[in-house]
Amino acid sequence: MKELDRFMEITKATYNDTMKQWKEGGGRIVGYFCTNVPEELVMAAGMLPYRLRAPESRDTSEADRYTTYLNCTYCRHVVDDALLGNYDFLDGFVGSNGCDQMRRVSDIFRAVQFKEPAEKDEFFLEYVGAPRVPMDEASLAYYKDEIIRMKEQLETFFEVEITEEKLKEAIREVNESRRLLHELYALRKAEQPPITGAEALSVTVAYTCMPKDLFNQEMKSLLEALGDRKAAPDHKKRLFLYGSELDDPDWIKVIEDQGALVVADGSCFGGRMFWDYVDESGDPMEALAKRYHERWSCPRMCDRVRRQDKIKEMVRDWNADGIVGERIVFCQLWGSEKVMTNLEAQDTGTPTLWLEREYLLGGTGQIKTRVQAFLESME
Ligand code: SF4
Repeated sequence: MKELDRFMEITKATYNDTMKQWKEGGGRIVGYFCTNVPEELVMAAGMLPYRLRAPESRDTSEADRYTTYLNCTYCRHVVDDALLGNYDFLDGFVGSNGCDQMRRVSDIFRAVQFKEPAEKDEFFLEYVGAPRVPMDEASLAYYKDEIIRMKEQLETFFEVEITEEKLKEAIREVNESRRLLHELYALRKAEQPPITGAEALSVTVAYTCMPKDLFNQEMKSLLEALGDRKAAPDHKKRLFLYGSELDDPDWIKVIEDQGALVVADGSCFGGRMFWDYVDESGDPMEALAKRYHERWSCPRMCDRVRRQDKIKEMVRDWNADGIVGERIVFCQLWGSEKVMTNLEAQDTGTPTLWLEREYLLGGTGQIKTRVQAFLESME
C-alpha cells in the first residue's frame, strides 16, 4: 500500500523529506529524547518537534569515547549520530531524566561541542526534570513548573511568544493525531486486522518526526485506504507487544514472520506515547502538565499497579493470546519491569515471552527460534 510505504520510508530515515521541506521553508526543528517533554510547547513556538532516533547509525565508535558498553545502545547510537553531525539540522534539544542513561545523554550534549564554535550560542539546550510519582499534587506542581520554565526559555531564546491560543491550537492538532492513531488501533481489534504490528509501528514512529498537520492528512488517507484489508490472514496467534524504545518495524516483522500478529502494544514509540489526550478545556499549561505526568506510564514511574491493569485491559480488549516483552540490554528500568510482568503473568496465566535486544536489529535467528517455541507452547 503506498500509504504504508510512505510511513515506512519516513521511519527508515534520520532526516526525512518532510523535515527537509520544513527546514527549506525556513522552519526550525527542536529535538527531544524522552516523551516527558511536551511537544505541544515546541509546536506552539512555531517549531517542529523531533524525537531523536538513529535508524541509519551502524556503530558507536564515536560515542564510545563518552559512554561504555554498559550503556544501552539506543543512547549510544544517538550520541554517535550527534557526534558525527547527523543531527546538524537541529536548532535545539530538550533533554529529560527519562532514565539515568538518557539524563547522561543530555549531559554529554551539554558538554560536547554540538555545533561549530561560531554557532554554539545559536543552539537551544534545555532540560525538563520529570518526577516519578504520578497522581501526586506536589510532583504535578513540580512538573508544571518545569514545563513553564521550558516555555519561557523557548520564548526568550528564539524571541517568540507562545500565546495561550497558539498552545491550544497545538494541543488540538496533537490530540487529532492521537485520535487518528486510536482509530487505527481500534481496527486492530478485528479478527482479521487490516494492518500488521510492523506496519503500525512505522505509523507511530512517523508521528514523532513529521509536521503533525501533514501526519494527520496522511493518516486520514491511510484509514480510508485500509478498507477491508486483511494484513495477515494466516496468522496463528495474536500478541500484545510491551517494552521500551523500539522504533524499527523490521524487529516486529521477524516475530510476525513466525506466524504471529502483533495486534496492540504498550511501547515507547507506540501505544504508550500517544494514548492519553490533553484536556482541551481550562488552562492549557495545567492540562499539559496533567496529561504528561499522569499518562500511561513507563517503568521509571512508581506506578506499577496502573501499568499492570493497563496490560490486562489491552490483552483483554485486543483479544491477545500472549505477551511479547522486549528490553534493550543493560536497561535497568525494563529489567525490573520484565521481572514484575513475568510474576503477574504467572497469576493471570497469560503466556509471556521476554526478548533481549540491542537498538539495531540483530540476532534474528535466536528471535525466530524463541518465538516459534513460544507459539508452539501456546498451541
Ligand atoms: S532503553 Fe532503557 S536505558 Fe535505554 S533510554 Fe530507554 S529506559 Fe533508558
